[in-house]
Amino acid sequence: MSTSHLYRDTAVVLRTYKLGEADRIVVLLTAENGKVRAVAKGVRKTMSRFGARLEPMSHVRLLLYRGRELDIVSQAESVEPLAPMLATLDRASQGMAVLEAADQLALEREPNEQLYRMVIGVLRTIADRPSPLVIPAFYWKLLAAEGLGPELDRCVRCGEDGSLVAFDLAEGGALCGNCRSGVALSAGALALLRAILGGRLNEALAAPESPATHEVTVLATKALEHHLERRLRAVAMFER
Ligand SMILES: [Zn+2]
Repeated sequence: MSTSHLYRDTAVVLRTYKLGEADRIVVLLTAENGKVRAVAKGVRKTMSRFGARLEPMSHVRLLLYRGRELDIVSQAESVEPLAPMLATLDRASQGMAVLEAADQLALEREPNEQLYRMVIGVLRTIADRPSPLVIPAFYWKLLAAEGLGPELDRCVRCGEDGSLVAFDLAEGGALCGNCRSGVALSAGALALLRAILGGRLNEALAAPESPATHEVTVLATKALEHHLERRLRAVAMFER
């Protein structure tokens, strides 16, 4: 293989699966090449030169050969030990939620450095300072980065800037008492949403667990699912 097919990148390992007896396919979210699937040869042998560097949540610097379908990992070194810091069950499940969302949003070989930086940032936050709103805030920020941030300042239907009491995913934001549809939205949850999406993330992350953080969590999960389903339908139509 010629050296022109060699490239360097940094990546987070999103997931891995077995290939044959000794190899593994690693699905990577790279900084410069979007989502990349690559073969790590011999990774399941005990003396593998990659060791545990290619496990989900690993943050690695890589040398890869570009293949036609799958790339090949030639070298892998650790950038920072994120995976061990996320080793408690609670943090690991939060980390897996991050990887899953990133895996669903990232496109193969489509550079998305913002997504890569957001994923690294949220994994570090989970490792450093756990908070009930880390994952929901990440979801909301992912949606905002895709241009799908919700309207939170005035009623999304009539434009009234009085009190907002409901949230409708299909409408894309909060609603006043006259227009209410979707689900009820408490003043506390609205304040947290405004903090997350209004540049006051630390304030939101400091909030203790409460019915309002629960509301924001449920809404965030539904909003991300809503977006992914719509995108899947759009892709299906496009491919028909
Ligand atoms: Zn209204």
